[in-house]
Amino acid sequence: MNKVVIVSAPSGAGKTTLVKYVLSAFPQMEFSVSATSRTPRPNEQHAKDYYFISMDEFKKKIANNEFVEYEEVYPGCFYGTLKAELQRIWDKGKMVLFDVDVKGGINLKKIFGKQSISIFISPPNLEVLEQRLKNRGTETPETLKTRIEKASYEMTFSSQFDYVLINDVLEKAKNEIYQIIYNWLSKN
Ligand code: ADP
Ligand code: 5GP
Repeated sequence: MNKVVIVSAPSGAGKTTLVKYVLSAFPQMEFSVSATSRTPRPNEQHAKDYYFISMDEFKKKIANNEFVEYEEVYPGCFYGTLKAELQRIWDKGKMVLFDVDVKGGINLKKIFGKQSISIFISPPNLEVLEQRLKNRGTETPETLKTRIEKASYEMTFSSQFDYVLINDVLEKAKNEIYQIIYNWLSKN
């Protein structure tokens, strides 16, 4: 059975940080590179962080039924998992690790069921979340506001995940996510 690990969180909760850690701790896993219509951040690479494509191309792929799931995560910004991406990873005999928004995580859990484990990363509170996003230095005042508003809404969906992990002290959160995945792999 092709196993998948789904990690979701409000933006700024520390998902990327924890996903990178999981990938280093479990070499049998590979990150599912999503397609997105948003522009790359200075440190991001095409085909590593995302497949950066135009909105036109994204829409063509929707019409061609090339996505497992996709969402307009922020107004005008589409993100989605391509079927071809999953096949690419499974062909290598590896497990897929998803880093998707909360709606996407819930959808993927419905699609993959027992084949999957879903983990919701929660910030200790919204003030900390805002501070982390500010420190990251990637947001304008407008995108910061959108992300914080969206985060408080997304937090209400945490109970639909198999596990909720509060990312307070990073080292502790790393140990917890390791144990959750390790235990699941041992049982499945
Ligand atoms: P996400 O992928 O969920 O948007 P990131 O992993 O980019 O979040 O984390 C947001 C910011 O918070 C980054 O600058 C990251 O270094 C920092 N960060 C992540 N986890 C912690 C933590 N436990 N304590 C303090 N800062 C953290
Ligand atoms: P960012 O712009 O910060 O990279 O990502 C914004 C949000 O989009 C994050 O919550 C990220 O997890 C989510 N995201 C990335 N790829 C996908 C995807 O393929 N599907 C869905 N539904 N969300 C995604």
